[in-house]
Amino acid sequence: MLKMVNVCKTYNGQEYALYNVNLHIKPKEFVFLVGPSGAGKSTFIKLLFKEINPESGDIFVNGININELEHDDIPDLRRLLGIVFQDYRLLPDRTVYENVAFAMRVIEAPSSIIRRRVMHVLDLVGLREKANSKTTELSGGEQQRVAIARAVVNDPKILIADEPTGNLDPETKWDIMRIFQQINDSGATIIMATHDEDIVNNLNKRVIGIDRGRVVRDQKRGGYDYQY
Ligand code: ADP
Repeated sequence: MLKMVNVCKTYNGQEYALYNVNLHIKPKEFVFLVGPSGAGKSTFIKLLFKEINPESGDIFVNGININELEHDDIPDLRRLLGIVFQDYRLLPDRTVYENVAFAMRVIEAPSSIIRRRVMHVLDLVGLREKANSKTTELSGGEQQRVAIARAVVNDPKILIADEPTGNLDPETKWDIMRIFQQINDSGATIIMATHDEDIVNNLNKRVIGIDRGRVVRDQKRGGYDYQY
């Protein structure tokens, strides 16, 4: 599903933001990406979307070597991926429905299927009743649920989340984690960068640790803390 082979990335040609990363994440895995600030987690995520390119090494997403993609093929790559951020990044002047439908309109999905699919994902995140609310009228947890609905509406193979619970209170964050688990159960691979020890310690997933650009741990079922 996702493979990195000897991937290196520098921003300034000197220090490595990622150094010699080798990883294989299989379909339907749920993986936590942990590491201190500046470790390279966002760089990792940006490489997957081809927002940036590696200095060297190969990255395969769903069997495609993304280094070899032409510019025109990048939208096809991004269709395989959904992303959720810590700060939701919703369109503030639009409704819940419009925020989610927008993601289908940009890929030119036929309008006949948009409504059905948007309502389906709003059901999944428990927000059908709020379809016509403006996103500014929602709580943080509800906004994050809209962002998740938007990320999965085009049925991505891999859902990537960058600190998705960072702005949420403890109760709400578990609601959000249950939604991610459901999405994973229905077949998507999940890669989640997080600093939340509680979540990592309780969910017993694969944990990949990055520090100063290096993969320093990769455990099948790990907790947050790790003795190096
Ligand atoms: P994390 O997401 O784990 O906090 P990042 O991937 O953002 O880490 O950063 C990894 C390293 O790359 C850090 O040393 C950071 O300063 C550097 N870096 C990230 N983005 C840029 C950029 N656009 N220009 C220069 N250096 C960058």
